[in-house]
Amino acid sequence: MPQTEHQRRAYLKALEIDVWLPRDEADAALPDGVEAVATDGLGWQELRDCVASCERCALHQSRTQTVFGIGNESAEWMIIGEAPGAEEDRRGEPFVGRAGKLLDEMLRAVGQPREQVFIANILKCRPPDNRDPKPAEAAACRAYIERQIALVQPKIILAVGKIAAQHMLASDATVGSMRGSVHQHGDIPLVVTYHPAYLLRSPAQKSKAWDDLCLATRVAAGIAA
Ligand code: URA
Repeated sequence: MPQTEHQRRAYLKALEIDVWLPRDEADAALPDGVEAVATDGLGWQELRDCVASCERCALHQSRTQTVFGIGNESAEWMIIGEAPGAEEDRRGEPFVGRAGKLLDEMLRAVGQPREQVFIANILKCRPPDNRDPKPAEAAACRAYIERQIALVQPKIILAVGKIAAQHMLASDATVGSMRGSVHQHGDIPLVVTYHPAYLLRSPAQKSKAWDDLCLATRVAAGIAA
């Protein structure tokens, strides 16, 4: 029997599986009392100030500082991760822990050193105990990553890990099924790969991540679509 989208969502909700939403629906899913934030038209400094003072979800209460993102504001590659961890929360910079070191090595291997790309997360504040972001937190933060993408205008987005990929593609598919092909985020091509923290635990998957970075390289060069 064909399943309606409503039935599918109800089923996933009953199983306590988080469902990421397209942007307009994400705005509708904002936590009570939180208005959609208007970031359209903001420049870098205004956006930084907006993020630094953000209190749109409860994560602001436990953060040391926001983690805006870092790198080349006109980068060809934009790397999108999940959320700051403990080290990132302390230092105010994304991907600076062990996983970040691996990410740096992977990027350097395809000729995209850290300072050449722009790196940001779906969430700008650390979830306590490194738990997964809640959809309402991601919805509250969504306008920030969208504005960052609009400002950078990268040739390729690399979504690292399940949370980033599911969020950017409004999908509940696995990384295994999303990697290996070229998706679109609006008019920007997007490639999915494994999170470096997962690769530290499962080094046998590193060759697949290498394939993903090679695919992203070809897409950015305009020789794959
Ligand atoms: N994991 C992420 O997804 N982002 C970070 O900034 C650090 C770890």
